[in-house]
Amino acid sequence: AGTLAGRVAVVTGGASGIGLGLARALARRGAQVLLADLAGAEAAADMLRAEGLAAEGIAADVSSEVATAAMAEAAETRFGGLDILVNNAGIYATLTPKPFEELDLAEWRRVLEVNVMGTFLCCRAVLPAMQRRGGGRIVNISSGVAFKGNPYMAHYVASKGAVVSLTRALATELGRHGILVNSVAPGFTLSEGVLRNPVLVEGVKGPSLRGRVLARDMLPEDLTGAVCFFAGPDAAFITGQTLVVDGGAYFH
Ligand code: NAD
Repeated sequence: AGTLAGRVAVVTGGASGIGLGLARALARRGAQVLLADLAGAEAAADMLRAEGLAAEGIAADVSSEVATAAMAEAAETRFGGLDILVNNAGIYATLTPKPFEELDLAEWRRVLEVNVMGTFLCCRAVLPAMQRRGGGRIVNISSGVAFKGNPYMAHYVASKGAVVSLTRALATELGRHGILVNSVAPGFTLSEGVLRNPVLVEGVKGPSLRGRVLARDMLPEDLTGAVCFFAGPDAAFITGQTLVVDGGAYFH
């Protein structure tokens, strides 16, 4: 039994990349994990179950109020409750960097809709279930670019800044329910999605690595400690915070 034994976690965007890595880490610490993703996450859940972990998958678009409500309900139906939400779903790896004057407005709307409103909707959807458990933990995945800035992704940078502020706002409202809300801001991470996007790999990897104290590639596993910390007993008096995990590229 690990530090999260008896806990039920929902990880959005859990079918691949960082989300799958986070789900695996939570499950290894004893949590039962529901992986939610746009087209479902059965294959990822199968993979975790084959590793002896407790995992199930569900299809859910985080920008849909109906789907996020069904996601929270599924955690209770399948695992008997809901204690931890990791808001990891986001649009990033599929973006093509563009000068801000060329950004497509429809893309701007969708990035904000998924990254910000999606986080908001998931938080709202899990609230009743967490209240039934007498408390909970929410960990939002922001990005180091919220602090450092980053050219050619103004919509994405704005969305991740909003995730930091939303984390603070919700922390002030949810503390009275015993729900702690924190955020993790990763540096450039070689996730599956990023590796499929050569523009990102070539354009960001070099400068990003040069700006890091720990000069190696960052992998999804580098984020698991911070997320599991915020989800676990050692963070019982911490809320509204954002922890930058980037190998020492941005200090604040
Ligand atoms: P990814 O593209 O590999 O994975 C994102 C996952 O989210 C995918 O499985 C995708 O299907 C899912 N998703 C997208 N829209 C969704 C929606 N509307 N509803 C449900 N699921 C949806 O990306 P990643 O690199 O693993 O990134 C994961 C998170 O980490 C994102 O929030 C991203 O912004 C953040 N992040 C990534 C990096 C990086 O360098 N990779 C750095 C900082 C922050």
